[in-house]
This record gives sequence, C-alpha cells and structure tokens, in this order.
Amino acid sequence: MSKYYSYKQQVLEISLSLLEGGYFGTKHGSAGNVSVLVSGEEAVVITPSGMNYASLTADDLCVVNFSGGRIEGPHEPSVETGMHLAVYKNRRDVNAVIHTHQIHATMLSIINQPMPALFDEVTVSIGPKVEIVPYGLSGSSDLIDNVTAKLSNRCHCYILQNHGALCVGPSLEKARLFVELLEKQAMVYCQALAMGREITTLPEPMPEGLFQITKAKQDMEIARKESLQPVG
Ligand SMILES: [Zn+2]
Repeated sequence: MSKYYSYKQQVLEISLSLLEGGYFGTKHGSAGNVSVLVSGEEAVVITPSGMNYASLTADDLCVVNFSGGRIEGPHEPSVETGMHLAVYKNRRDVNAVIHTHQIHATMLSIINQPMPALFDEVTVSIGPKVEIVPYGLSGSSDLIDNVTAKLSNRCHCYILQNHGALCVGPSLEKARLFVELLEKQAMVYCQALAMGREITTLPEPMPEGLFQITKAKQDMEIARKESLQPVG
C-alpha cells in the first residue's frame, strides 16, 4: 500500500463531503479541488483533473512534488495544482488547501466585492477580511501570481474574481470548516446587500484583534515545521 494512503483517504473524504454540500457548484461535477501537505516532505496529495468526484477512490488521487512533478497516481493532477503549490510555498502555516465554486462566495466574485468582518466567531477563524484575488484564467500563471500576491495577509479565505473561493488552513478539517464559515457569512452578506440597506460591520479594531489569536497559532505551526528541518 502507498505510504501516502492515509492522506489520500483524507482528501477523498473531505472532497466527497464538500461535493454533497454543494460547495463545488454542481452535485455531479469536479469544479473545485482539494489538497493536503505531506508532513515532513515537499509533497502534496491532490485531487485529479476532470474526474467526477462521486466515483473517485483513494487510488485515483495524485501525489506531486513542489515543482508539480508527479510522484504517484494514475491521473493528471488538478489543473489548479500550481495555485495549491503556491500557497504551500508562501504560507508555511498552511497544511491544506480547498478551492470551491460555492455559490454565495462566487456571487461576491462577480460583483468584485471584498467581504468585511461581520461576525466575531467567523472573523476569529477566517480573518478580518476576505479579499478579492484579481481574475486569472483557471490554471494560468496569472492566477497563481494574483493569489500569491494576496497571501501575505495571513487570512484563511479568499474570493477569486469571476471564479470561486480559495480556503486554506492548518488541517483539512479546519480548511473545510473555513469553507463553511465563508459560505455562511457570504450568504448573509449577499442577502443583506440585496436589501439595499446600510450594513454594519464589527467595530474597529476588533477584527484584527480577534485574528491575533489565530496568527499566534499560525506562528506555532511555522515554528514546528522549522524545528523539523534537517540541520546543516
Ligand atoms: Zn475553479
């Protein structure tokens, strides 16, 4: 059995739960992708390109290195593999990446509307704002560059203009939770915008203050990884 089997199983389970929840935009498609970082290696387990997730097995998942080269798996990796790798290379606190076409975050992506901090329990998890990543064609180097340029805010959710959402986290379970929190807040925000009334946001400086708790956890994960680096 592959030494990556447990990672493949995790990615499969999370992908199926996101599919069932409608987060890939359709019930029967593969419009989204999920990956997890292999601990202690520059290797990532990621969903394959263009396959119906409902019929996937763990053996269908791909293992790639940080250059995108295939280590294991019978299929081509996701067309968005470069975007996932850019996150792992630029955000050492991140161990899982989920790209979705979830409906309400995608609504914000076509009106080019970043989302402010609206609820404290959401803000503490996903960050003080959800920024819009400027448009780049799916799988293009433009999209990778545009995502990379936004990652330094250390937030856990981004909206991809005219496309969908990108959620990152310290584990697959956390990243899936951030997908759900993003969708809940985006749904409320879209419907409130549609009412045409003034929207109240969390008072300053509370949003940044709340996220300091999460940034401290990110720092601990970065330090843990650095302690694993071989000396010399
Ligand atoms: Zn997409």
